[in-house]
Amino acid sequence: MAGYDYDLFVIGGGSGGVRAARVAASVGKRVAIAEEYRFGGTCVIRGCVPKKLYVYASQFPEHFADAAGYGWTVPGASFDWPTLVANKDKEIARLEAIYKKNVEGVGGETFHSRAVLVDPHCVYLVAEDRTVSADQILIATGGRPAPHPALAGHEHCIFSNEAFDLKELPKAIMIEGGGYIAVEFANIFHGLGVETTLVYRGKEILSRFDMDLRRSLHETMEKKGITILTHSISEWVGKNPQGRLDVLLSSGKTLTVDQVMLAIGRIPNTENMGLEGVGVELGKTGAIVVDEFSRTNIDNIWAIGDVTHRVQLTPVAIHEAMCFIETAFKGNPTAVDHDTIATAVFSQPEIGTVGLSEDEAAKRFPEIEIYRASFRPMRHTLSGRDEKMLMKLIVDAASRKVLGAHILGPDAGEMAQLLGIPLKAGLTKHDFDRTMAVHPTAAEELVTMYKPTYRVKNGERV
Ligand code: NDP
Repeated sequence: MAGYDYDLFVIGGGSGGVRAARVAASVGKRVAIAEEYRFGGTCVIRGCVPKKLYVYASQFPEHFADAAGYGWTVPGASFDWPTLVANKDKEIARLEAIYKKNVEGVGGETFHSRAVLVDPHCVYLVAEDRTVSADQILIATGGRPAPHPALAGHEHCIFSNEAFDLKELPKAIMIEGGGYIAVEFANIFHGLGVETTLVYRGKEILSRFDMDLRRSLHETMEKKGITILTHSISEWVGKNPQGRLDVLLSSGKTLTVDQVMLAIGRIPNTENMGLEGVGVELGKTGAIVVDEFSRTNIDNIWAIGDVTHRVQLTPVAIHEAMCFIETAFKGNPTAVDHDTIATAVFSQPEIGTVGLSEDEAAKRFPEIEIYRASFRPMRHTLSGRDEKMLMKLIVDAASRKVLGAHILGPDAGEMAQLLGIPLKAGLTKHDFDRTMAVHPTAAEELVTMYKPTYRVKNGERV
């Protein structure tokens, strides 16, 4: 090991890479990390963090409107997009510096450079024009928005990356896709006053979530004024003489908008980094194939986060980093457990979910109990906002184990985090029933639904 420059070289300074570098350095390993763009990666620089800030920004018009029922008069409010972008930039720059400092503070070395594998132990640093060696190499280069070359006029379209930094807020936008990013951005742009159309190829948005929540969110988004066109895809995008964009949809309909944003999934960053030359196995989508310990087919090369073929979520990448450190440096082989991951969609209203959807549970268990509550949250009583909250528990009738918990409404993401604990622990509905409620909260509904709303037996609702 002493023959190498480093014990660990990490390629990619996002959430996963920085965590691995920082923790390895803090246990005394000689560590270096290379990032070609900005430390912090997708999540901090152009993903979760700025997205959440924009979600907050987009919620103010509803807060102002809701205030009236509580006796407040809010004088004519106005919004300035460049101020939001500039303040976001300041916050992101602050976090970026912290990410870098966290590695350096525990003795890790940081490089601002693209890094290319030369052989299983050597990495060429492009910006420095030199090669360094390491005993272990970790690839954490993340992913990027999937391009859409089949779409005629795709060069006129933007992706989430550009959406954060538009010179001006469009008057009208069309967003293609029905996943996390499309739905979150549709709500952001609508909240900021942009005429928003979501175009989705399937029957119902958010295909991997519980159908009840998908339908309710869809209805609520439409009620707010977002147009959702399902069973549709865009076929052609072109600039019109007014400088706006015309979009021809598969339905024959034409939209005229100022921006078209594509959010049709994300692909791994594995090109031109020497992986093929060194013989690292890639899957069909170009993602790095790893085992349950995040090890590639080459013994000393590992990969974590969105560059692998697993779940594309920041906390998952961080967890994979921690397991990698245990395995590679602490003599404690730790497989990554991807089961029962709590997640949130920062739509408006928000979705928080953990475990199996009703449909998935019905396929896997002979009989399930569904506990379902739909109610107007207390905060909307005086505000008069006609928006319901939906909560649902999916329970295996035989073992009474809670298989899934799904929430649509204010703070659903916060609740999903806490529900992740009892579901991960395999607790039963009995454990929920004997838990005292916190009153008055919306979450108390989760421990006070004593009788099943309905059951599903052999796939049939009874
Ligand atoms: P998703 O996989 O969530 O959604 C992609 C969407 O694009 C789906 O609705 C899919 O349809 C549709 N689609 C795929 N290909 C095409 C095509 N050729 N033409 C038209 N539509 C197409 O990806 P996102 O881009 O929204 O997000 C990427 C990942 O980032 C997510 O999977 C998530 O893991 C992560 N993320 C997490 C967030 C969070 O935790 N809150 C926020 C943002 C991103 P179909 O359903 O039919 O397949």
